Amino acid sequence: MIKRHPPAFMAFFALSLVFLLSACDANAVNCDEVRAKYQCPVQKHRLHLSFDDGVGSVTDKVLDVLKRENIKATFFVMGNKIDCAKYPSGQSAQLCKQRIDTLNRIKREGHDIGSHSYEHHRHTQLPPNVAAWNIKKSKVLLSPYFTTEPPVFRLPNGDGWFNQKDKPFVMNILKSEGFEHIGWEVTAYDWNEDFQNGDKILDNVMGQMCGNGKRGRDGVVLFHDGVHENEHEGRLFTANNLARWIPKMRCAADFQPLLHFKKNLKKK
Ligand SMILES: [Zn+2]
Repeated sequence: MIKRHPPAFMAFFALSLVFLLSACDANAVNCDEVRAKYQCPVQKHRLHLSFDDGVGSVTDKVLDVLKRENIKATFFVMGNKIDCAKYPSGQSAQLCKQRIDTLNRIKREGHDIGSHSYEHHRHTQLPPNVAAWNIKKSKVLLSPYFTTEPPVFRLPNGDGWFNQKDKPFVMNILKSEGFEHIGWEVTAYDWNEDFQNGDKILDNVMGQMCGNGKRGRDGVVLFHDGVHENEHEGRLFTANNLARWIPKMRCAADFQPLLHFKKNLKKK
C-alpha cells in the first residue's frame, strides 16, 4: 500500500519552495532599475575589465568570479611581485611561489597579461636610465607570461602616458622595448578608501560608462587586484564585491576581450 504524504508535510514542502523562489528573485538583478539609475542608453556599451598592481592575495578570488561570468580580462602585473629570486627562503619565498602559481592560472584561463613595470614609480619623475631599468627588468621577468604580440604595458598611475606630450621619454622607452601601452577609458577608483563602501565603486563605473544622461564611454575599465605598496596583499573590497557588481554592469555592458579594442594586437 502506498503511504500518502501527510498534509502538514506537503504544506511545509510547498512553503519552502515559495520561500526559495522568492529568495532567488531577491538576488536577481532588476536591469530596468539599474539602467534607469545611471540613465543608460538602450544600446549596450562595450567594456573590457583590467586589474592592476597584482599578483595579490585576492587574485584567485577575482579569477573565480571571471570564470563563473565567462569574462576575459587583462592583468597588469608588477615585476617585483613575481621576482622570487629576491626571496630565497621563508614565508616571503612561499608567498612568491603562490603568486607565480596564480600568474600561471591567469594565463591558463585565457586572460591577457601585461607589465605594470617593476616598481610602482611615477616614471616621468625618474632619471631616464632608471625608468628604462624598471621597464626592462619587468620585461625579462614577465616575458614567459605575456599573452599578446606585441606585449602590453600599463604605466603606474598612467604617468608618462597621459602626460606624454610634456614628457615623451617614458613612452619612447616603451616603444623601443616593443611594448604597446594600454590606458583606460573608465576608472573604478577602487584603490581609494573613500569609495570602498556600498556600491560607490560600481557607481563610478556605471556613471562613466552610461554617462548619467550625457554621452557615455566604451573601452577599458581600470580595477585593482593588488596593493602596490604591499608584497602580497590584494584589493579585498574589489574582490569581495565583484561578483555582485558584474551582473549589474552587464545590464548596460557587453564584456569584450582586449583584442576587441586593440586590433593591432595578436594573441600569442
Ligand atoms: Zn598601479
